[in-house]
Amino acid sequence: SRDAAEPLDETELAIEGALRPTSLGEFVGQPKVRGQLQLLLDAARIQERPADHILLAGPPGLGKTTLAMIVAHESGRPLRLSSGPAIQHAGDLAALLSSLTPGEVLFIDEIHRMARSAEEMLYLAMEDFRIDIMVGKGAGATSIPLDLAPFTLVGATTRSGLLPNPLRDRFGFTGHLEYYGEDELERVIARSASVLGVDVPTDALAEIARRSRGTPRIANRLLRRVRDYALVHGAGGSASLSDVRAALELYDVDAIGLDRLDRAVLDALVRRFRGGPVGLSTLAVAVGEEGETVESVVEPYLVRIGFLGRTPRGRIAMPEAYAHLGVARPEGSTL
Ligand code: ATP
Repeated sequence: SRDAAEPLDETELAIEGALRPTSLGEFVGQPKVRGQLQLLLDAARIQERPADHILLAGPPGLGKTTLAMIVAHESGRPLRLSSGPAIQHAGDLAALLSSLTPGEVLFIDEIHRMARSAEEMLYLAMEDFRIDIMVGKGAGATSIPLDLAPFTLVGATTRSGLLPNPLRDRFGFTGHLEYYGEDELERVIARSASVLGVDVPTDALAEIARRSRGTPRIANRLLRRVRDYALVHGAGGSASLSDVRAALELYDVDAIGLDRLDRAVLDALVRRFRGGPVGLSTLAVAVGEEGETVESVVEPYLVRIGFLGRTPRGRIAMPEAYAHLGVARPEGSTL
């Protein structure tokens, strides 16, 4: 779990679902990826065939699942949801693929975490809509070919670099999702506020947007905490700037939106490792987190705002990180 407002209970998950846009037109931001997807879907519609396979890459919470749902919705096809960690054997994937109906959209989240044996099966399935099922072992083993219904695979990954080339090459296109700008986040929050029935003035919207780490999921979550705060301490259906500040302080979201884990990583880097360079795994152990979480969730945003650098010798703190933590830079620092 990572940002201030986790964990999500079932009600929260239902709300998160209700906040999802269902068409490309409603989807805020990511103009590049939206345009690319639109063309792909339009071409498939004209030819009355399933759309080409799509890979979506980028940090968590930027809308990969939402886009997969939009692809299904806009092409009028059913959607099947799965994830890399749930596919631990080729057999898991064979069961999934052979149960797809013609044209179905299959979403595999965290596709880089799928088992190797399943990956190989997926190559053939993506290319020829066919799989070979191995039966028996040793000298008597044979493979039985099985035809599949044509489908569209939407793969999502936070780490496109971890995907083997043969897999990456079989996607018709890769959409790279970027962090959202503050004006885009304001639009996401304004839309969500109206769905939730809470009135948020412009200055309060801007403050939530500024503190959302460029991430719509975080923006929506912070909005819900602000709404709670207004409900309990404020004017109920309307949230003011001071409600925003008080709520986010309560949940340890700082003035630029960094949460506890972001600050723990920076703090370890700056104080304990004197600005680095330090290796990823050492840094992760110091903050009690998995290397993968630090690398794919925490670091991309810190790099993007210029607080952290990745060098061949390890992670280093940038001058802005010292300034934000209020720590003096070590003597003789050349950065
Ligand atoms: P993960 O990979 O961790 O599942 P994700 O990138 O798939 O994350 P989503 O689950 O699609 O992220 O989005 C998270 C939340 O943010 C959803 O509630 C969704 O409504 C909202 N959201 C994401 N992108 C947008 C957008 N462009 N416009 C409006 N809302 C968005």
